[in-house]
Amino acid sequence: MSQQELGRNNTVILAWVPGHSVINGKEKADEAARLGATSEFIGPEPFCGLPRSTIRSSILNWLNIQSQEWWQKTPGQRQAKLAIKGRSKSFTADLLNQERKIVRMVVGLLTGHCRLNKHMYNMRLADDDLCRFCLEEEETAVHVLCQCEGLARLRLRIMGDPYPSPCSFMEEPLSRLKAFINESGLGAFL
Ligand SMILES: [Zn+2]
Repeated sequence: MSQQELGRNNTVILAWVPGHSVINGKEKADEAARLGATSEFIGPEPFCGLPRSTIRSSILNWLNIQSQEWWQKTPGQRQAKLAIKGRSKSFTADLLNQERKIVRMVVGLLTGHCRLNKHMYNMRLADDDLCRFCLEEEETAVHVLCQCEGLARLRLRIMGDPYPSPCSFMEEPLSRLKAFINESGLGAFL
């Protein structure tokens, strides 16, 4: 019974009690404390008390590690694994607030599943796989996002880096990737 419950119908007074005095209530309290300390704990480990926030963050960390391992071990998805290194709470929240058309473009570009020439050529839906911006390399998502000379100045202006790494796009605000898609004209092919 808690102190608040006791106080509802009783007058509760906190008082110091001499250690060796024979007081009925003290004897019973000491006995209950002894019993509690020597009893075997029943329940999940760890036995020491942990704040709920510590337990929650530990579970989330474990979940993050498990999902990253699972993602890296999953066969295939070569292009997507270059751009998507792991879960990003802020990027995901930002993306889910966009209209459907933007979500499709961003996901298509980051995963390589879009109407760029390399993908269309592999599906026999394009005559060649050359990049329409530089006419020198295969037009893949990684190429247009990170390597194409024809888009280097635009990347420098928007991203601050002419040749960023594929995974840097998810670390930057989504607005930069949207600006790159719009200003490059890529939106028509995603
Ligand atoms: Zn190019």
